Amino acid sequence: MYGWVGKILYVDLSKGKTWVEPLKEELCKKFLGNRGINAKILWDLVKPGIDPLGPENVMIFGTGPLTGTTAPSSGRVTVTFKSPVTNLYFKTNVGGHFGAELKFAGYDHLVVLGASKKPVYIWIDDDHVEIRDASHLWGKDVRETDKMIKEEIGDKDIITVCCGPAGENLVYFASIMVSVYNAAGRGSGGAVMGSKKLKAIAVRGSGQVEVKEPEKFYELALEVRRKLSQDSGAISLHLYGTSGSVAAVNELHAFPTRNWQLGHTDKIEYLTGQYLVEKGYLVRSVACFGCSIGCHRYVMVKGGKYAGTFTGGPEYETMSALGSGPEVYNTEAVIKANELCNILGLDTISTGDVIQWAMESYERGVLTKEDTEGIDLRFGNEEALIELIKKIAYTEGKLGNLLADGLKRATEKVGKDSWKWAMFNAKGLEQSRVDTRVAKAYSLAFAVNPRGPDHLHTETFAEFGASPEAVELIEKLTGDKKWASPYYTEYRPEIVRWHEDCYAVTEALGICVFTSTAAYAVNPANMAEMFTYATGIKMTEEEIMFAGRRIVTLEKCFNVREGADRKLDNLPWRMMHEPAPTGPGKGLVNSPEELNAMLDRYYELHEWDKKTSWPYKETLIKLGLEDVAKELEKLGRLPKATAKK
Ligand code: SF4
Repeated sequence: MYGWVGKILYVDLSKGKTWVEPLKEELCKKFLGNRGINAKILWDLVKPGIDPLGPENVMIFGTGPLTGTTAPSSGRVTVTFKSPVTNLYFKTNVGGHFGAELKFAGYDHLVVLGASKKPVYIWIDDDHVEIRDASHLWGKDVRETDKMIKEEIGDKDIITVCCGPAGENLVYFASIMVSVYNAAGRGSGGAVMGSKKLKAIAVRGSGQVEVKEPEKFYELALEVRRKLSQDSGAISLHLYGTSGSVAAVNELHAFPTRNWQLGHTDKIEYLTGQYLVEKGYLVRSVACFGCSIGCHRYVMVKGGKYAGTFTGGPEYETMSALGSGPEVYNTEAVIKANELCNILGLDTISTGDVIQWAMESYERGVLTKEDTEGIDLRFGNEEALIELIKKIAYTEGKLGNLLADGLKRATEKVGKDSWKWAMFNAKGLEQSRVDTRVAKAYSLAFAVNPRGPDHLHTETFAEFGASPEAVELIEKLTGDKKWASPYYTEYRPEIVRWHEDCYAVTEALGICVFTSTAAYAVNPANMAEMFTYATGIKMTEEEIMFAGRRIVTLEKCFNVREGADRKLDNLPWRMMHEPAPTGPGKGLVNSPEELNAMLDRYYELHEWDKKTSWPYKETLIKLGLEDVAKELEKLGRLPKATAKK
């Protein structure tokens, strides 16, 4: 095989067994790799209704056909599992060097089955695969775990993946951490690892990835890298990271502040990527494998009460989740909070959402000082933010335990309408940091996301028209560049549909979505060509986007099989009922009527049934998902109506 290395590694923790199976070419042609093949493995191995924290859940780590090659930003891995937060399909994509290393060790995918009775870690050294005791690592934070494994094996270049104490304690937003600072943050993959007593995976590979047409591939990779070096979005990411865009989003009043009561803060300066550079917090920028953008930041606090704090980030999302959301504008406190989330293994987005919900509940008198065990939980209290992060990770005390269960469960316990200011939707996931009331394609993308309301399944950045490339794309998708504005509801379904397929293809190949749906430098034609030269399997732009649509539909079908329908495609109450209070989009809201109209068109474009949101049998057959159609039909989960011709 070219591009792929041709092997899937299976590790069964219940039986203590490991084995290798060949990766079938048929699977590669249909689902490309990484997120796509992961979704098919999950569909095949996970039966509906299983407990995500039970041994029947499966974790799949997937690389793509471009991972480990000279393709730009080709270090991305997808981890796929059934989420304990949503009880639905979940994939989370992460950078760093784990993907390339896994491929150099000789595997395209790693599938973890079952659960161990005692803590273990998996050691992969090319053909040598071992399940090792991890009792001495249990309870250690992410930084300590990474260091101890490297020392134990005697190789500082090993790449590790692990869960922190939050994952061990089954916190509902525990992340999977890759080499300390890269987070597969969402959906509580960390708790799935914890439930399997899988503390870590360590990998070292000595092989390489062969491509079919090395010269053509190399030339094309260079050309794409040249495009990236001239793209304004990529340049900004290189200079200031994702938090370089904080001020611009704040200008649009789309930067969630004070638990999403506002979309704007006057103190934005302290939360920007530019400030991190100017004030000397930035130690260096870091790149994932093969990436010329290098958007990751490593920052350090050198003096004051947080002296010695050192972490990756803070990313855009973290600046809002742990900064403007709880109204903490001390940059150093935000860096400290970020460090704690990283080393304890918590998703910064959900951590911020639960803490600021608790702050609002406290200020409304719904949570009392007795509930908070003496913590003064007013907005702006940075000590409370930092203390609560630790309490959540270790599920300490009444409040730590309440918040560790995530917003949906916490509001069910607290009651008193507290769900109305809790930022989760019907799927149960906490929303990521874009005020969707003033970004209409985002609102639709968040609502239909099979994970829940966030930007990491489809990011429709082009609707802001922030770069010439983005405006050009909007013109191509809608016929007029005037639609490059986030306030319109017109053509949003068309914009979401294109981005969904493009995002799925990018991830399935193993490259970073910042190259194709933030920078817009890598387009579907480039991806089809890179795929063709790498694998020797000819694929056109249309064919590769069709594969993207197949992946998106299969992910949808996983949720349909679990019982999901249209009712789950919505947004948090605050977004749907409280109009934006300030800014150029003042008065806008994601009303049920507005969202429903966009949903109707979106399902129509997908050739899914509008009433249930389920894909028609004909649609599934057209996409080559006959086996999926058969299974859904058996379960009575295909629409009664048939697709209109
Ligand atoms: S752009 Fe950033 S996230 Fe993407 S591969 Fe490069 S360094 Fe990693």
